[in-house]
Parts: sequence; structure tokens; C-alpha cells
Amino acid sequence: MNDPQNPALAGMMHRALAERVYNFSPGPAALPTEVLQQAAEEMLSWRGTGVSVMEMSHRSREFEGIQAEALADLRELLHIPKNFRILLLQGGAIGENGIVPLNLMRLRGAENPKADFVVTGTWSVKTEQEARRYGTVNIAASSADEKFVRIPDVAGWKLSDDAAYVHLCTNETIVGVEFQDIPDIGQGQGRVVVADASSHILSRPIDWSRVQVVYGGAQKNIGPAGVTIVIVREDLIGHAHPLCPSAFNWRLVAEHDSMYNTPPTYAIYIAGLVFKWLKRQGGVAAIEQRNIAKASALYDFLDQSAFYRNEIDPSCRSRMNVPFFLADESRNEAFLTQARANGLIQLKGHKAVGGMRASIYNAMSMDGVSALIDFMREFERTAG
Ligand SMILES: *Cc1c(COP(=O)(O)O)cnc(C)c1O
Repeated sequence: MNDPQNPALAGMMHRALAERVYNFSPGPAALPTEVLQQAAEEMLSWRGTGVSVMEMSHRSREFEGIQAEALADLRELLHIPKNFRILLLQGGAIGENGIVPLNLMRLRGAENPKADFVVTGTWSVKTEQEARRYGTVNIAASSADEKFVRIPDVAGWKLSDDAAYVHLCTNETIVGVEFQDIPDIGQGQGRVVVADASSHILSRPIDWSRVQVVYGGAQKNIGPAGVTIVIVREDLIGHAHPLCPSAFNWRLVAEHDSMYNTPPTYAIYIAGLVFKWLKRQGGVAAIEQRNIAKASALYDFLDQSAFYRNEIDPSCRSRMNVPFFLADESRNEAFLTQARANGLIQLKGHKAVGGMRASIYNAMSMDGVSALIDFMREFERTAG
């Protein structure tokens, strides 16, 4: 981009870089600037091919290489065991709310399709409601009565013996609760756990002895919207309802190496660049340490303040999504306007919760979190 032959282009890139702000969007969310710069450099011609990745056949040797490398990097980053398949689908996590039941609810027989759901926030509510269309839904536990401020104690979960699987949303993006560990609920004895990990996948390691299906849309912590990642233990593939659309049938998708239909090629390419970036950061264990430091700094600041508050039980606060309220809600608009003027954007809370929310995914730097805390301290001071 610093091509002396093209000073206009170099100037444009320079300006755009200077314009970048700290983006606390819950999703689609901030991507590492390095990744976007590389994509810009490769936009018109990918590695001497004369075409953009967007313009390549998904069946070309080049694109097959891009996809295979992305999947290999993802497998390495998350230590995904050999007996798990990585599938790339479309339809997002909300699509999976139907796709998972269609593929898995008949696991223990077609007569009584059934699954257990642990309801810990807005997203798991949506998941269990969609699943009702496909079979029997057992709400094993719910924290709705407590406004989702904590994850129900596993000792009280009412799991059924004949359910195909137990569904968890391991990070509730809107309410801001996160499973710090997936509990042992008999996975070793054949219980299947399915996790919607959309908003924290790759932010921490995954214990594959505790979870058999992990899925997520890419636009929080992986890359652009459009690709959905499903990581599924092999023996759980092949149980789909006959009416499951072919493009969403895990067996067909697996048999065609995620090219049963045209995959979202550009989104996969960018996800691959993000995986390389993560490896340069030291991998998932290293990024987890940074995520802990970022989240601790922000929660510690909230907890010492009487001006701001977070209402989530400290044992299950999300490292990725930090909702908070101003004690004086009449200042909300001023807070958001001044934050924006300070280069801190997308801090408004979800309408279901209100207040504010800072989403601090892998791509958010400690500098960004520190800038937010500095701004909040100054806003509190000048609010009198
Ligand atoms: C964002 C999100 C979804 C919805 O994802 P779509 O890509 O819009 O389908 C579902 N679950 C969780 C946990 C999310 O964060």
C-alpha cells in the first residue's frame, strides 16, 4: 500500500487508517486492522492470480487451498480432535436453531425427538423456541426469573434421560453471562452437549470431552457475517430428518467438504486471515490471557464506581460482552454522544436490556479497553 507509483492509493490508506475508531459493536464486530490491510492489499489480485478471492471459483485449486488452510489453522488453534468434523454452512447461529434439531433431535430414535435446553439469556430463549417446531423441548433449567443475572447451578438442572442432546449458549451476547467451564453432566456416559459459541469461540480453549457440537456465526469473533462454523463429533453426523434441506444436512455437507453448495468464499478467506493473525498473537491460550486482562480491567473499574454498575453475578460474567448501566439513566444519550466524539463507538446496550454494552472480542486491544475506561472515568468526573 505504500506503493510510490500510486501516491493517491497510499494517501487513501493512510487517511483510512487514521480514521479507525475503537469499535465495541456486538456484531458484526471489529476485525484486526492488520487483517483488513492485508485484505486490501490482496483485493485486486490474490497472490499473482490477477483476480480477487471474491472472483474465484470455489472449485479452483487456489480457493480450495485457502479453505483447507483456514480449516487446518482453526483445527490447530482450538485443538479440535481428529474425530470431529469442521463444517462451513450458511444461515448463521439462528439458522442453526433449526438446523441442529433437524440433524440431531432424532439421534435416540425418530419416534420421540427430544432435547434439553438450559436457558441463560436472550439467545437460548430463541433457540429453545425454534426447536419446539421439531420435537419435544425440555427446559432443564432457566434463569429467566432472575433476569438472567447468573447461570443456574448445575445441581438443579432437570436433564432427561431420553433427550438427544443438551443445548447451551456458552456466551450470552446480550445479557452478558458466560460459562467459565462446561459442567460434567455425563458426557463420558454418552450425553451429547451442543453449544452456541457464536460470541466467544476462539476467545478461550474448548474442552472437547465436555462438548460434542460447537457452532457459531463468524461475525463476532471470527470474521465477516456469512459463514457459520459447525464443529461436530463424527458419529453425530448422519441422523438428519428426511425433510432437512440438503444444504443444511451435516452428512451431505461433510461428504462434500463444505462445498455441497457454493460456500461464502470471501468470508472464509477473511476468517482464514484472522486465524493466521491469532496464531501470530500466540494462539488461543495467549489471547485468552489478554481477554482476561481486558475484562478484569473493565469489571474492576465498574465495581469500584457508584456511577456505573454491572448486574451479573461475578462467577459468570462474560469476558466478551460487558453490559453496564449508568446510575443516572438520563445521561445515557450524553454518554453515547461524548463516547463517539472520543472515538469509542457502538456502546449502546441491546434494547432487551437497555443501558450500555461494551463488546470486547479478540480484536479489541487493551489500548481500546483502557481508552474506554479513561473516557468513563472522565465522564463520571465531569458529570458532577
Ligand atoms: C449473534 C448471535 C446469534 C445470531 O447470529 P446470526 O448470525 O444473526 O444468526 C445467535 N447466538 C448468539 C450467541 C449470538 O451472539
